[in-house]
Amino acid sequence: MTTISTTKNDPASPQLAHPALSRSVPDRNCPLCPRLVAFREEARAREPTWFNSPVPPFGDPDGRLLIVGLAPGMQGANRTGRPFTGDYAGDLLYATLLEYGFASGVYQARPDDGFKLVDCRIGNAVHCVPPQNKPLPLEINTCRPFLSATIATMPRLRAIVALGRIAHDSTLKALGLRAAAAPFGHGAMHPADAVTLYDSYHCSRYNTNTRVLTPDMFRSVFAKVKADLNS
Ligand code: SF4
Repeated sequence: MTTISTTKNDPASPQLAHPALSRSVPDRNCPLCPRLVAFREEARAREPTWFNSPVPPFGDPDGRLLIVGLAPGMQGANRTGRPFTGDYAGDLLYATLLEYGFASGVYQARPDDGFKLVDCRIGNAVHCVPPQNKPLPLEINTCRPFLSATIATMPRLRAIVALGRIAHDSTLKALGLRAAAAPFGHGAMHPADAVTLYDSYHCSRYNTNTRVLTPDMFRSVFAKVKADLNS
């Protein structure tokens, strides 16, 4: 476990003054990442009934837990409009959240399934679906102000679970924390001021198929978060 100190700035975005960043969630036609905008337009032409827009956070802004994913999956959040909804990663994530009391209802992989998060919110480091699930560093930096806004609009926030290294790195920068003192590692905890950052490997199908992440490894992260929040 490392305790990390804060830096003065988020060095994130080269476009901080862009009017699109005056919003706390991206506009559905956010223009800031040309490659992702072109990819979005292709998806809109190919699948006109899909969401195909920046995916906003899901859950309770008054929650104490924020989960930060990488970016919407093409067949999941990009299709349905709700983070982690409709793909394999969501099956594991939502089952785990239910088990630890961070969700209620029955997850049916649809945004209108009535499923609710409890004391919990989910956002992404990058809000638009990227080709091959791989955002470029500039795109991660450009979208970070929206992640910062997600964090800033959670007044009771005490725990952040970062799913994967990119989410970990971008969350550190959004919090103004020094990355060198907080290396990513599954199960690592990084307390900083009022918030503790918890790391997990991403719950993608690839990671679970290759046993990089087992359901037990994933559950152990949320068991720790739950215990800490209850302590
Ligand atoms: S990834 Fe973020 S900053 Fe880039 S176009 Fe999408 S919403 Fe805008």
